[in-house]
Amino acid sequence: MVTLSVSAPWSRSLIRHEYLPTRPFHPLRAGKRVEMMAEIAEHGNFVGGEWVASCTGQTMDVINPATEAVIARVPRGSEADVDRAVRAAKAALAGWLDTTPRDRFELLRELADRLEAHTDELAEIESLNVGKPHSVAQAEIPSLVDNLRFIAGASRRMDGAATGEYLAGYTSMVRREPVGIVASIAPWNYPLMMAVWKIAPALATGNVVILKPSEQTPLSAIRLAELAQDLFPAGVLNVITGDGDPVGAALARHPDVGLVSLTGDVSTAVEVMRAAAPSVKRLHFELGGKAPVVIFDDADITAAAEAIRVAGYWNSGQECAAACRVLAGPRAYEPLLEELTPRVSSIRVGDPAEGSDVEMGPLISDEHRQRVVGFIDRAADSGSRVLVGGGVPGRTGYFLEPAVIVDAGQSDEIVQREVFGPVVTVQRFSDEAQAIEWANGVEYGLSASVWTRDVGRALAAVRRLQFGTVWINDHLPLVSEMPWGGRKASGLGSDMSAHVLDDYTVIKHVMAKFS
Ligand code: NAD
Repeated sequence: MVTLSVSAPWSRSLIRHEYLPTRPFHPLRAGKRVEMMAEIAEHGNFVGGEWVASCTGQTMDVINPATEAVIARVPRGSEADVDRAVRAAKAALAGWLDTTPRDRFELLRELADRLEAHTDELAEIESLNVGKPHSVAQAEIPSLVDNLRFIAGASRRMDGAATGEYLAGYTSMVRREPVGIVASIAPWNYPLMMAVWKIAPALATGNVVILKPSEQTPLSAIRLAELAQDLFPAGVLNVITGDGDPVGAALARHPDVGLVSLTGDVSTAVEVMRAAAPSVKRLHFELGGKAPVVIFDDADITAAAEAIRVAGYWNSGQECAAACRVLAGPRAYEPLLEELTPRVSSIRVGDPAEGSDVEMGPLISDEHRQRVVGFIDRAADSGSRVLVGGGVPGRTGYFLEPAVIVDAGQSDEIVQREVFGPVVTVQRFSDEAQAIEWANGVEYGLSASVWTRDVGRALAAVRRLQFGTVWINDHLPLVSEMPWGGRKASGLGSDMSAHVLDDYTVIKHVMAKFS
């Protein structure tokens, strides 16, 4: 039971309301590995404050990629489920618009507290559903809780143009208003973190949300909805599961949806753009990456190799910012490979259930592993050398040995395309101009890092790198206060920081004649 002091009377009563609908479904339980349960847990969609089956009654299996076992069943959503969720969201919008930033802050802060209190359970769910090692899953929760708290607070202080008399006899002011119904479409690599990155700015700024988690990893979003079910008024937060097409596609084309926020593949964003075009929707995209790691000859090679061992293979390399494309200077190249290859070979791959020393779990699915192996095979066929890894271990689960590839050309597929697996290429550049040209020479522009002891060289490189985030002498850390967004094909708009609040709102000029 939560008792918070908020200004809107209706939301005060809602916060105090013990809303626990009768659910025909099994909740996820802390401390139990779901697959060990005799019965496969079956979940519902959360629509209009109720847990419901899909309109067709169909379900889909959720798999643990480390064991290939079915661990849960979720609704297989359809266009009718989207219509029902949009109706529920629309009905909730007017009441939600009457809340103040402080009301919403209090609710989101409470949600953050609940997520924090369930850290171990949420990490366990994420580990089971994505195959993440416990250390990786556990590290995500404090970070996403912090993001939720930061966004909730930042939304109470939004900047804007000064109100003033820009035309004699008139006062002009700018209002910043929510878009309305936001469709949040999330990927499978960071299911809970991406869900929070999406719902936090949307709800904080007064929008209502329909969250569609990835069909492969819906479990943590469902648990999030369970933890939030008595917090928000019915219909403010809805979660519906199912395939990209029809569920994501129907959200993208629905005329009542005002903004589609997608984190996913570039090709999916193109589909969403097409579907959203007839109703000219707002779009917010966080897409793929192919991050260069530019290592100049004067860099600390050991530190760079250590960082690549982590950032190149974190989350099995299924990371949009993965340090996957190393560009090393002529004198740095050989020492780097000497330091990097034994480190990569030493990465402990296994089922997260095997113990806390597992550093890398499986890939998300057999289909995705085949895709990654295809990249490695084609690279080898076209003249690249696989220095270490790349093999498929003969065991259950979608495992793949972490790989280092050399001798790839700048135009080769393995350098140009996002592999999204534990595969790092290392190229040797001849001078700084070539380093920058190669770093920028891909369609992506999400993140990059430069490694040097020379501040001037680092800043000169930063200036010319066409990426949304550039690290100097590190790769991967993020903070809630700073934006995360891609250039070029890597996205539109940004997550995190106060900037995200602009992306989830629209401005209105109000002009009053007073003379
Ligand atoms: P994906 O594009 O296959 O799927 C993402 C979501 O889109 C899923 O929920 C899926 O069901 C849905 N979808 C699929 N087809 C759709 C359609 N036609 N219309 C609407 N929705 C549709 O991506 P993924 O494989 O889940 O995730 C991996 C991708 O996400 C990678 O490219 C990765 O780089 C990117 N990613 C980017 C960031 C970032 O911050 N930039 C973060 C995480 C992941």
